[in-house]
Parts: sequence; structure tokens; C-alpha cells
Amino acid sequence: MPELPEVETVKKVLLPIIKDRKILSIEVLRKSIVNGLDKEFISFFKNETFLNITRRGKFLLIHLSNDKVLISHLRMEGKYIELLESEENTKYARVVFHLDNGHKLCYDDSRSFGRMIMSNEKNYLKEKEIAKLGPEPFEVDDVSNLVKQCNKMSLPIKTALLTQTLITGLGNIYVDEVLFASKIHPLTPAKFITKDEWETIIKESKRILTEAIKAGGSTIKSYHPGKDISGEFQTKLLAYGRKGEKCVSRHAFMRFIAVNGRGTTYCPKCQIKLGAPIKIAIVGKIASGKSTVLDEFTKGGYCTISSDEIVHKIYEKIDVQNLINKRLKVKGEKSFVDNLRDHIQKHPADLEKLEKIVHPLVKKEIESTFKNSKSPLLVAEVPLLFKAKMQDMFDVIIGVDIDEKIQIERLNLRDKEKSAFLKRINDENNLFEEHKLDLDFIVNNNDTLSILRKDTKAIIDKLLSRLNPLLDRTSI
Ligand SMILES: [Zn+2]
Repeated sequence: MPELPEVETVKKVLLPIIKDRKILSIEVLRKSIVNGLDKEFISFFKNETFLNITRRGKFLLIHLSNDKVLISHLRMEGKYIELLESEENTKYARVVFHLDNGHKLCYDDSRSFGRMIMSNEKNYLKEKEIAKLGPEPFEVDDVSNLVKQCNKMSLPIKTALLTQTLITGLGNIYVDEVLFASKIHPLTPAKFITKDEWETIIKESKRILTEAIKAGGSTIKSYHPGKDISGEFQTKLLAYGRKGEKCVSRHAFMRFIAVNGRGTTYCPKCQIKLGAPIKIAIVGKIASGKSTVLDEFTKGGYCTISSDEIVHKIYEKIDVQNLINKRLKVKGEKSFVDNLRDHIQKHPADLEKLEKIVHPLVKKEIESTFKNSKSPLLVAEVPLLFKAKMQDMFDVIIGVDIDEKIQIERLNLRDKEKSAFLKRINDENNLFEEHKLDLDFIVNNNDTLSILRKDTKAIIDKLLSRLNPLLDRTSI
């Protein structure tokens, strides 16, 4: 989707092509582009001459003779393509302007979401689409107005910026980039954003948009100017599109969430989640003390849930039993769980099939438990978190670590169980090590239980401090 820098590039490339060209005729091939007003549109602009192009946010403002203005919004796929009259229209040509130099300008839009509005010099800034736009970041010198406007706004900052009414020009890509550079979590309620943070948002917006405009200007020269004026180009994006990759600071993997339905990539360590609820996962090796950590949250009165308990509950459901028996061809005369255990022991490769059924059900149960709770901290013990790729569901992941020697001592294994169990311990410990960058906190349980409890309490206090909008941001 074209964003402000792309639209700026389109403006720059399109202007020399159409400047001083007269429109001899117009074909409207898709009425919705001109809001159904095709006849009016044609007679309004026919015989006028293109004079200049300006831009407001992502709107192109094309100025013509007789004080007429064409407001053009490219939305998802809109682009202008210049062709010779002898050439065939582009595949998705929706509006075609025939010019007085033997050329034609096709407005091409495969999804037809773009719009063109007729206006004039006196009124175009008052058209409702344009009037509601806030200033561009380049026009903001003093942020106190933004702080005031967001005073009571509970919308996530990302959503607030996307509305274009606070500031205009940041779409889905550059909002992610700006919030990443500003170290602000996209779900932070707009009313929590401090004056200093607004100053950072504006500063980073100016920097990132300027760089992108520059990149657009340099890239566009490399292909035939005017043939395909979509303004698409690559800029170096540090957040958008990098889900699962390492943050450029190399201390975490980028997570991917939906913010009011918009895909959003962020770094959980650069961009700390502020405000309730905070969703917390507890992971760790076998016998590392995960339940003790969970227990501390339960004692504090917060919503807690353990995946093992969820799995027990899931296995009690007849439809789940039937589904698993059918898919895995489980047979036996014992109870469902015993039959299943026997089956997996005989067919270890079926574990993966079983997980494919169980993991989504666990995920669903955690989601619905969290959704129905008003607790500011929502905590789940999820030993299978990484295997089930559930990291993105959580704001904070706490890892409980333990030295392998102590772990084995505490398990107090009987000889006959030992070798199979050791393999499992080894596998899971490797998984834990592999995902250390995914952990936001690590507690070590090599000492007494009371120390583990004390360390957990310190994490809880830290998380609680993140619920307070007036907190000192340096301490989180
Ligand atoms: Zn980071």
C-alpha cells in the first residue's frame, strides 16, 4: 500500500509528465473510482490543463486550470501509468485521461479501492476527507496539542496514529517503524504517551519519512520514468515485515500481533508493554519450578492457568477423544489417557500429530480465559510455548532456569525411567537454550524455594509498575 513517501514520489514523477498537458477526453471504466459520478467527472475535467501537483498526507492534490482540483487517493493498489495513445490500456485501467501530446494517462487499480474527487481551489481543503487530516509530522513544532488531544484517549497509540487525525502520513508500515524507533509498544494507550515520547514520535517520523522519500527519489530513476508510477521501492525497514527475526539490537526476536486488526511487528525488549492487561507466559525446563512461579501469581490474586491442567480438561471431552482416536488410530481397552500413552510409546512419530490437535485447543483455552478475566496480570504456565509457536500471544515471557545436575537430582529418577527421561530433559533443555532471546525475564532455581519466591515477587513488582501511566520509564 502506498504510504506518504511513495505518494510523494508519485507526485514528483507524475508532475513533469502531465504539467501543461490539456485533457482532450476522459474515459471512466470503473464508476466507483469517481463515486459513481462518471458523467459529472468527465465534463468537469474535460478540456482543462494540468498545472501542478501537491500532496496532503497520502492524498494527491492535482491542480488544473479554472481553479479545479482533482483529489486522488491511491489506497491499496492505485497507480498512474503513462502510455502512448497507440498502446493498449493497462490491465486494470479504471480511468483514462487522453492528453494533447499523443499520450494517455491510465489510472490503474487492480482492487479498485482508490478514489478520485472533484473539487476546486476554494474548497478542496474543506472536503471531508482532507479536512479531518491532522498536520504532517513535518508541520509539528510543538507537541502539546497532541498530548492534549490524547488526554483521555484509551485507543492503542498505533491505532490513534493510523486514524490520520492526530498526525497524517503514517500508514501501517511507517507506524511500526516509528514506534520501534521511539521504543513505544504499539498497544500503549494513547493517553499514556508522555510529552517527551510525543517529541520522539515526531522526531522519528520526520527522520524516517525523509529517508524513505529520499530512497524513493533515488530508486525511481532506475526504472523507466513515467511508465509505472507506483512509487514502490525498498527502504530499509527495521520492524515491519521482520516477525520472528532478531531485533537489530540482537537481544530479542521480533513478535507479531494484531492491533485493531492490523498486523504489527515489534520488539518486546525495545518496546515494553505498558498498561493492563499484561499477558505473561511461564516456561522452563522439567522440574525447574515453573509451578512455584505460577503459584506466586495465584497468591497475588491474578488470573493464572496451567497448560497441563488445560490438557487434562481437554482429554476429558468426548469429541476430542474421538478425534484423537480416529486420527491416530488409537486402540486399547484401558482408559483414553492410558491408551493414548501406550500408543505414543509405540509410535513416537504420532506425537507430532497429537500436538497438532492439542496445541490449538490449548491456545484457544488460554485466549478465552484471558478474555474473560479482568485481572491486570494474566498468567499461563506453558511448557510447550516454543514448540507450539505461541510466543506472540504474550507480552512477557518468564523463563525458569535450573542447572541440569540439580534438575536431575530433584527429579530423583528411578533407574528404569532414567534413559528415556534424560533424553527428554536434554531435548527440552536445548529448546530452552535456543529460545533464551525470547525470554523477557529469567529466574534461576538453583537455590531454595524461598529464594525462587522472592525473585518471582520482584518480577511481579516490576510488572505492576508497568501498569501505572505515570511511572518513571527509566526503571522498567
Ligand atoms: Zn529490540
